[in-house]
Amino acid sequence: MTVELICVGTELLLGNIVNTNAAFISEKCAMLGLSMYYQSVVGDNAGRLGHLLHMAKERSDVIILSGGLGPTQDDLTKETAAEAMGKELVEDARAREEIEACMAKRGHAITENNWKQAMVPQGCKVLYNPNGTAPGIIMEDGDTRMILLPGPPNELIPMFEEQVYPYLRSLQPEIICSKMIKLCGIGESAAETKILDLINGQQNPTVAPYAKTGEVHLRITAKAEDEKAAFSLIAPVEEELKRRFGDCVYTDDPLVTLEQAVARLLEEHRLTVATAESCTGGLLAGRLVNVPGISGSLKEGYITYSNEAKEKLLGVSHGTLTAYGAVSPQTAAEMAKGGAEAAGADICISVTGIAGPGGGTEEKPVGLVYTGCYCKGNVYTEKNLYSGSRSKIREYAVANALTLLRKVILDEVKG
Ligand code: ATP
Ligand code: MG
Repeated sequence: MTVELICVGTELLLGNIVNTNAAFISEKCAMLGLSMYYQSVVGDNAGRLGHLLHMAKERSDVIILSGGLGPTQDDLTKETAAEAMGKELVEDARAREEIEACMAKRGHAITENNWKQAMVPQGCKVLYNPNGTAPGIIMEDGDTRMILLPGPPNELIPMFEEQVYPYLRSLQPEIICSKMIKLCGIGESAAETKILDLINGQQNPTVAPYAKTGEVHLRITAKAEDEKAAFSLIAPVEEELKRRFGDCVYTDDPLVTLEQAVARLLEEHRLTVATAESCTGGLLAGRLVNVPGISGSLKEGYITYSNEAKEKLLGVSHGTLTAYGAVSPQTAAEMAKGGAEAAGADICISVTGIAGPGGGTEEKPVGLVYTGCYCKGNVYTEKNLYSGSRSKIREYAVANALTLLRKVILDEVKG
């Protein structure tokens, strides 16, 4: 079953409003397992809409329209769609009563053009609208189905949920369910390479990797007659992915973030942490502070942007800074160790790098970032080279610091 979406409105074409109806309807159709191959936006123009409807009828089984069902002259979706489906418009008695009741409730006088909204294509199913005056319409012509919905999202969304979704579900015997597995500490290409056999051989369920900043998310999607059947198709693939990626999997809960996963580990193992940041300037501490309850684990966050601050607050030696520079593994290590001591924390994670756009050299280019992690007497450092804007480099550095922190905790608790 293929579905096509047409959003009607000159306001959309001019960029005056954002097409949130398209995002909403597309997502719902995807969940229903309907294949959407075309989407378009057309202005309030009967000729162009009519042309589009004829093309849509040729290529799609279900055509969903949003907007242009109102009472005014420029609202012409219903008239144009009825004509394309070869239907006459007739008055619907209940729609007329509801318009009267709605206008009375709002305290508005009824104008002649309001009755236009009580006209519906002959033989259609009327979708009564408790949130507005324009009813929605479902009409069929041979194998083609057309669904007309009002433009305002507060009318369209409940009408879709309550009346259109069950209708589409009855046309489509299968639904789509998915599960997300989130990875850190592995790049997108390395992740894809590990599961190429699963990606290539896939039918149902399918596996798709999505690259995020410093993370990779794997989505497993299955089609089945109901949720239970879909999740039983997903389960063995999920298990296999978890086996292949081991400790790189930080959650299988779509709502859990990397900082939440790290915070949980800190809490679970009763470890305290501090941060010592140069180029990320507090972003790392900020991400940890996103997590409610982090106060039990996070002791202190240092922003030590200058060399003097690194010496004064973290006890980085003057000799290290002059011999190796602020962006070096030696400085990252001393920042981490000094930060843990100053804060009296079990662990301290440090970041020092060149976020750009200026300040890079051949030896130390923009995007070079060293991360340090001190944990109970041991210090680990990592070197990375990121590309992108200043803010992107800083975001990558933070994601990587959280990943290193997580790895150090896991190693520490494993002994
Ligand atoms: P009305 O009875 O209000 O005229 P309508 O069904 O004729 O409703 P439109 O006139 O096309 O719908 O749009 C009315 C309002 O609905 C727009 O001003 C806008 O706020 C919202 N709207 C319309 N289409 C969309 C869309 N695709 N995405 C988000 N909002 C939309
Ligand atoms: Mg309108």
